[in-house]
Amino acid sequence: MKNKMKALVKKDEAPGFEYKEVDIPTIGPGDVLIKIKAATICGSDIHAFHSSPGIMHLLTLPRIVGHEGCGEVVAVGDYVTSIKKGDIVSPEPHIFCGHCYYCQTGAALNCQNMELLGHNADGVFAEYVKVPETDCWKHPAGTSYELGAIYEPLGVAVHGVLADDISGKSVAVFGCGPIGQFAIGAATVFGAARVFGLEVAPKRLAMARKMFPGVTFINPGEQDAVKIITEATDGLGVDVSIELSGNSAAIQQAFKVLRREGRVSLIGIPSKPVELELNKDIIFKEARVFGIFGREVWLTWWRVRNLLNTGKFDPMPVITHRFPLADYAKAIEMAESGAAGKVLLYPEE
Ligand SMILES: [Zn+2]
Ligand SMILES: [Zn+2]
Repeated sequence: MKNKMKALVKKDEAPGFEYKEVDIPTIGPGDVLIKIKAATICGSDIHAFHSSPGIMHLLTLPRIVGHEGCGEVVAVGDYVTSIKKGDIVSPEPHIFCGHCYYCQTGAALNCQNMELLGHNADGVFAEYVKVPETDCWKHPAGTSYELGAIYEPLGVAVHGVLADDISGKSVAVFGCGPIGQFAIGAATVFGAARVFGLEVAPKRLAMARKMFPGVTFINPGEQDAVKIITEATDGLGVDVSIELSGNSAAIQQAFKVLRREGRVSLIGIPSKPVELELNKDIIFKEARVFGIFGREVWLTWWRVRNLLNTGKFDPMPVITHRFPLADYAKAIEMAESGAAGKVLLYPEE
């Protein structure tokens, strides 16, 4: 096997990435080497590309970026028993230690010694990535690599939706980009009674409308979202707000449309501090706020599999564009244009 590969690297604090040749990772006895066949661009990759302060504190540089991917196992370490060459796997990007307080108490997602692919561990925007055996999600043989690549962002949406009870509830999803569309799909399948989707980008709105005919879509740039949602919910507001845009105005609205005792899941990453009226928005409302950062290991992955197995939601139309890794700049531009769903990168030459 060759010992060099192409990878997308964040070199220093300056904006941008570099597409360059680097060493193929060497695996330890508990590691697996995955040949990446498909990877997708996450909002956090766009933040990293622009060196946005909201994300840079998570990165140690230089670093191979990217954390949403799927590929074929090409080598396993001597101690690896559950994964073999040829398996199709997606890495869980939160690499957990297995022995800290959180890992011991079933909350590996918040591991105190966490390494994060594409941030402080080398990521998937490369021909190969190395991950511990314990961080591999094995797919059934024949699973498409593209579906495997979107398991991770699907998981973020599912974790955000199922952070608390959703059944029979009214739900407002802020931001109908890829994760917003996944969240609407998950909320619908897992039993939400009424779903509102809010989005300002016309193309995304049109895409989401086509995918989810039963959902009420609102363009808060043109319509009074708080009024529409309040009226449609008998003056109460929604039971659940799921915020994916990271936009300050949307985050503020997510609290304004919430009924008393409602729940907010915050997923989108704002690029600067956001002002909230704590009295009105949270305290007097007795609102419950959930920060969502990743997936519950491995509960969320099983829930994603269960969601897909229902056959009631096909996430594949959310993938709208595909680029070779070398064309990353075009791909990122497309991903942040508001005109695309999920944008895929192919590391193979
Ligand atoms: Zn992601
Ligand atoms: Zn740990």
